[in-house]
Amino acid sequence: MTHTDPDCIFCKIVAGQLPSKKVYEDDELFAFHDISPWAPVHFLIVPKAHIESMAHLQPEHEAMLGRIMALAPRLALEQGCKPYPEGGFRIVVNTGAEGGQEVGHLHVHVMGGPRPWLKG
Ligand code: AMP
Ligand code: ZN
Repeated sequence: MTHTDPDCIFCKIVAGQLPSKKVYEDDELFAFHDISPWAPVHFLIVPKAHIESMAHLQPEHEAMLGRIMALAPRLALEQGCKPYPEGGFRIVVNTGAEGGQEVGHLHVHVMGGPRPWLKG
């Protein structure tokens, strides 16, 4: 049984209790468009399990994190990012208050598309 937090908005999105524009789903990962995008392409990849942040990772999460990183380039292309090197994408994982993290469920931002972007 996957650990979830009933008060967490990303757990609710994963469970379908809150609407999202889904990009991808498998047994342990879920990806959806960011509700206020910084870039022409901007989606989030999250583990289905409620892991609070990068600071909470345990050795058993290594494979899952590797899968997120391997999935990002594939989904970026599917979502319209141009191929490397003229296209590409940016990955951001905000962690903790000083890291700019607002939602306490680990999420990997994947951003791309023609610049300028809202942030960066
Ligand atoms: P962070 O600041 O890294 O915690 O990023 C949280 C991100 O989640 C922000 O970019 C928000 O726009 C995004 N976000 C918050 N609520 C939702 C939602 N209901 N659906 C999609 N994205 C969301
Ligand atoms: Zn959660």
